[in-house]
Amino acid sequence: MHELGIAENILQIVRQSVPEGQTAAVRRIKLRVGKLSGVVAESLDFCFGVMIGDTDMNRAGLDIEDVPVTSKCRECGNAFATDDFAFSCPACGGNSIEVVSGRELEIVEIELADESGEQI
Ligand SMILES: [Zn+2]
Repeated sequence: MHELGIAENILQIVRQSVPEGQTAAVRRIKLRVGKLSGVVAESLDFCFGVMIGDTDMNRAGLDIEDVPVTSKCRECGNAFATDDFAFSCPACGGNSIEVVSGRELEIVEIELADESGEQI
């Protein structure tokens, strides 16, 4: 499964980004996932949950933001939203189309528990 490898990557990045000894404080990992990335948010969430289940990061959760697909016509510069790859421009009918967004798969933010307010 595609999502399993991605969940593994995310976990690795988080471990590298968070200061040592702070991984147990990770609560929320904010991701931006483009519709063209081929990632199914629900299964990524599921894989990630299984993966952290018996680690010190088991209180972390994913917060996945869907990034819509935006395409741009190279001929007239028209930018438009699409559900998938676009093959022609709705404004001029040109077919030199560039994908501007929708392929992202990135971590935007890692949220740690606020130590002062945390009850254990
Ligand atoms: Zn156009």
